[in-house]
Amino acid sequence: MKYLIRMDDVNPLMDKYKFKKFLELMDKYDTKCLLAITPNPKSKELIGENPIGKDEFKELIKILKKKGHSFALHGYTHENIGKKTRFLDVRLRTSEFAGLSYEEQYKRIKLGKEILEKEYEIETDIFVAPHNTIDKTTLKVLEDLNFRVFVGGIYPTFLTNLFFKNIKIIPQIFWRPRVFSKSFELLLKPFYNPCVFVLHPQDINDFTLKNLENFLRYKKDKVIWKI
Ligand SMILES: [Zn+2]
Repeated sequence: MKYLIRMDDVNPLMDKYKFKKFLELMDKYDTKCLLAITPNPKSKELIGENPIGKDEFKELIKILKKKGHSFALHGYTHENIGKKTRFLDVRLRTSEFAGLSYEEQYKRIKLGKEILEKEYEIETDIFVAPHNTIDKTTLKVLEDLNFRVFVGGIYPTFLTNLFFKNIKIIPQIFWRPRVFSKSFELLLKPFYNPCVFVLHPQDINDFTLKNLENFLRYKKDKVIWKI
């Protein structure tokens, strides 16, 4: 059983102190994670009390690259402007993309990808959707822009791979990191391996850090999966 730690909403306006605390723990346990970057944040919840700012963010990305973390594109602005959908999910949800035209979705994802490449020298074929929601058009756009992995949705990979041939879908059903019992791991393993845990810089507090540290201490070196 493998685990993937996904840190969403990494952006130039995130709270620098909260993110630093997260990074300290990752360093302490020498763990790598998937950092999902929103290059042009326009959504209030992404803006931290002490925003890191563009220059410092650029320097941080260089450090994160050196440390060996992976990167994904996490939308363009993270605004909640799409229409409600249940695609790859049972819940009815809105997002930055679902319900918008192919052209609009293409424009937004391409703009995001270009900022990652030009400003941060990050080339990635991994996409994480804001609000964890996309529609079938988004998948087509992702394929056309050479993305190969989508991390999200709730259905097991073997099932989604039957329907979507060109893009690998890694489901995500849990949020905070936690230590599962051996029997629960056995139950999960055929369906959710890797098991993805998601964090956000804005949610980093004593409780989140404690959960994360418990998990890292227990799972150290063995199962943290690098995408
Ligand atoms: Zn997000």
